[in-house]
Amino acid sequence: MKLKIHTQIFIAIISGLAAGLLLGENAKHIKIVGDIFIRLLRMIIIPLIMASMVAGVVSIGNIRNLGRIGIRTFVYYTATTLLAVGVGLILVNVLKPGAGVELGLQTGVDSQAHAAPSVVSIVTEIVPKNLFKSMAEDKVLSIIFFSLLLGVALSSVGEKARPLVALFEALNAVMLRITDWIMRLAPFGVFALMACTIGQMGLAVIKPLAVYMATVVLGLAIHAFITLPILLSIFGRYSPAKFIKDMFSAVATAFSTASSAATLPITMDCLEKKAGVSNKVASFVLPLGATVNMDGTALYEAVAAMFIAQAYGIDLTLWQQLIIMLTATLASIGAAAIPGAGLVTMVIVLKAVGLPLEGIGMVLAVDRLLDMCRTSVNVWGDACGAAVVARLEGEELAGNQSCQPKL
Ligand code: ASP
Repeated sequence: MKLKIHTQIFIAIISGLAAGLLLGENAKHIKIVGDIFIRLLRMIIIPLIMASMVAGVVSIGNIRNLGRIGIRTFVYYTATTLLAVGVGLILVNVLKPGAGVELGLQTGVDSQAHAAPSVVSIVTEIVPKNLFKSMAEDKVLSIIFFSLLLGVALSSVGEKARPLVALFEALNAVMLRITDWIMRLAPFGVFALMACTIGQMGLAVIKPLAVYMATVVLGLAIHAFITLPILLSIFGRYSPAKFIKDMFSAVATAFSTASSAATLPITMDCLEKKAGVSNKVASFVLPLGATVNMDGTALYEAVAAMFIAQAYGIDLTLWQQLIIMLTATLASIGAAAIPGAGLVTMVIVLKAVGLPLEGIGMVLAVDRLLDMCRTSVNVWGDACGAAVVARLEGEELAGNQSCQPKL
């Protein structure tokens, strides 16, 4: 009997975890499998985003429709990120994970941590100075900007541009086919990544930070299993249970890679092939979401900042907590969709309310585990957003039909 791909990936996570615990440091010998899996995914990100976005924009037709999708996406992304941070702040105030923490500060705060990008540079860099340089450096927002421009220009030129449109449509279909193939390797990649992460870290680091971790995980769980499903059923009219099944491969890949960007090809594949969201919507909402919509990261940054404040015995006023809410949202937008990025942009939050940057050293030890969890929520949030926007655009989705797994 052939197991469905999401079942295979689930088994890979559990057995990878067990292998990591058993093998410990030795798990590093299978790291190559995980590395190759991530490289394969990263290899197709740029051509996939470009091809599917250009094809998507052309199929949207006129710029007014594009604007409407854009506004809906913006409203959904902002609202859900703020909701996530709100949940995190409530939990951290109630559970007070930092109260009574007597953690000696660890040295070795990530030196990158001080190099958080400024809001101005994030905005400026959306416009690529050199398209090929942006492509080479995986600057997703710049690629999105150029692809949007190209798509709109192709539509406005019309008949004469037809061959180029056909080229991008063909490229899109081919990239999705390659994604399908890479997805078949996902169970192996996921297994290796899990084993290496757990083997390297061990579970001993968790103990002193257990309440802090529990607060973050509980917040993420509330957002993922309550807030987003409610929005999905009300605005997307999509069965959350079915959607979780549809998107499981993507969420599990996000969990094991801790990168929304690397997961993007799989997220697109699941959303289009299993949930039935059109390329028109998916190609616009998902790449943007992978880059700027990070509900999990925003929640995490707010909780971590409050935890640091509590551990240092610093009382933050309601006003200061509102500043945390705002800056955590901005910092999550600025975070790159790669492992550990949220930890880097947390500097923005800490600085905004004058918390000691050394506090980051406290949460460093368990960052990877929490990164895996928050990245899963980031990807889940993007997927829910795409389904909601698609339904608001009048699309009929697979939500009520029987699921036809691809593999
Ligand atoms: N790893 C996260 C992501 O790719 C970003 C973060 O570090 O929070 O979505």
